[in-house]
Amino acid sequence: MAKNIVLTEELKKHFGFDTFKGNQEAIISSLLAGNDTFVLMPTGGGKSLCYQLPSLLMEGTAIVISPLIALMKNQVDAMRNFSEDDNVAHFLNSSLNKTAIDQVKSDIISGKTKLLYVAPESLTKEENIEFLKTVPISFYAVDEAHCISEWGHDFRPEYRRIRPIINEISRRPVIALTATATPKVQHDIQKNLGMQDAAVFKSSFNRTNLYYEVRPKTANVDRDIIKFIKANPGKSGIIYCLSRKKVEELAEILKVNNIKALPYHAGMDGATRSANQDAFLLEEVDVIVATIAFGMGIDKPDVRFVIHYDIPKSLEGYYQETGRAGRDGGEGQCIAFYINKDLLKMEKFMQGKPLAEQEIGKQLLIETASYAESSICRRKSLLHYFGEEYNEDNCGNCDNCLNPKKQVEAK
Ligand code: ADP
Ligand code: MG
Repeated sequence: MAKNIVLTEELKKHFGFDTFKGNQEAIISSLLAGNDTFVLMPTGGGKSLCYQLPSLLMEGTAIVISPLIALMKNQVDAMRNFSEDDNVAHFLNSSLNKTAIDQVKSDIISGKTKLLYVAPESLTKEENIEFLKTVPISFYAVDEAHCISEWGHDFRPEYRRIRPIINEISRRPVIALTATATPKVQHDIQKNLGMQDAAVFKSSFNRTNLYYEVRPKTANVDRDIIKFIKANPGKSGIIYCLSRKKVEELAEILKVNNIKALPYHAGMDGATRSANQDAFLLEEVDVIVATIAFGMGIDKPDVRFVIHYDIPKSLEGYYQETGRAGRDGGEGQCIAFYINKDLLKMEKFMQGKPLAEQEIGKQLLIETASYAESSICRRKSLLHYFGEEYNEDNCGNCDNCLNPKKQVEAK
């Protein structure tokens, strides 16, 4: 009990928060007690704090493995905001020159650095391994741990080398964190990181404020979308399309219809892309039409709708993308336009890929189709996919519960 009180004080002292969110406190205690710890928590739940706070309380430097250079930089900046000492957090990745790397290393050696963010590619470098062998490590955090699994939505082969490298550097507790909670992914992560005995903390993935609906995708889909947006004036929304071409086309169609919209996809030049993203964040436009390149690490709390012009490749992706709506707990309408032939198209696209990948891809598409074509509560189906049982008879916030007779036409 005494420990709990201290933890709340440490939280206040280092981060300025009065209370822990969800099961943060139990997770932190588990890690401080030296246990391997596995955290499944939806996006926005507060996973970072689960390793940031312990890193400040333990001897040595915590190694945080994180997949994206941009996310890494955000996190380091955020940590530095909380602390008087910039050296408290550093990152090590391919963007640093020799001088910067030497600075990072000397701060670690002198014990100033409590958190070191590394990209998996950098962790696998022999010179970094040799260096890390010589310094005291408090623990390892594997953020976005679903990258380990081919069943996850963002598989990264280098993530599979983490365990052997940890063994080489020095065995310390491991905390793995992800917002992906499908049982297959969970199993892969634990097995690959050799943490079958970890303390597992799984939060509910139910987002009660999100409304889910699947509509048949017809030749009138553009008109349907325009009508929806006009019925929701002034609200911020994201429309996801699979192809860059469709993103450009639809943004244009919306503009012609007096809707303030901009496109966003990885094929645009960097300057335009970030200008469009800023225009959306600053509410100069209402709607961003995007590929799934848009959204990673973006935290706009009041996105009021997420429309899927094309159904995504997996339910996991669908959950992550719709999850960007209503992060402030307010209204979030999630509308997917579905036609079975879109899935057949996606299956065709996969044909050049290795067989194992095709098999996985096909299985994910089958699950997506069965969600879209089902008349069961959408919330129940989605949560079931994450291994969570939802027992309410009527969620009161999806098309199938509000309008039980409606059936989506598959063809
Ligand atoms: P996740 O990685 O799970 O998506 P983050 O770690 O990015 O979530 O945290 C989401 C937001 O919640 C951040 O703005 C963070 O500052 C905030 N947050 C985390 N823990 C707390 C807390 N105990 N009290 C208040 N806000 C918190
Ligand atoms: Mg996170």
